[in-house]
Amino acid sequence: MKNKSGICGRSIEDFLEIIEGFHGWKAPGVVIGGFMVDLARELVGPHLESDVVVETFHCLPDAVQLLTPCTFGNGWMKVLDWDKYALSLYEKKTLLGARVWLDLEKTCLFPHIFDWYMRRVPKKALPLDVLLDSILAAGRDILSHAPVRVTQYYGKKQKGRISVCPKCREAYPVNQGSQCQACGGRGYYDRLN
Ligand SMILES: [Zn+2]
Repeated sequence: MKNKSGICGRSIEDFLEIIEGFHGWKAPGVVIGGFMVDLARELVGPHLESDVVVETFHCLPDAVQLLTPCTFGNGWMKVLDWDKYALSLYEKKTLLGARVWLDLEKTCLFPHIFDWYMRRVPKKALPLDVLLDSILAAGRDILSHAPVRVTQYYGKKQKGRISVCPKCREAYPVNQGSQCQACGGRGYYDRLN
């Protein structure tokens, strides 16, 4: 069997349990993400200080946060809203690493995964345990990878100077203008009292 039996040093069973605790349920995307992170870490070298760019907001960031020190909050994981099931793990200093993606052609051998990935069937028509069985059977067989050099979205975001908004009296970054985003009409809420 060419698939390893674990994910980043954990048994599959442990990994599924950790997913449920963190993500709320055994989301297929997080399980596939586990295989992706496991492969990427093997390619880049698990001992290196790595950062990661994730190309979707869906599920995959959670697999990264569960299996690596990279989180959204510490800035070592950048997340792009591209809705592509792919990530690049790379060494911080050289920016060299590996991109791993869910390869659509390879999912043809696993019709349930193909249907799920292409959003062809409603959730009710494809029971979770059936899909998960396919995913665990597939392991790395639905993934492809290539070496990459990262050219954007790396490094720390600079934190600028802070000021106090003259309207709401909340702190905000000066480089956003003379008042905060919300008071400047770019808010996402109406205040109700
Ligand atoms: Zn304000």
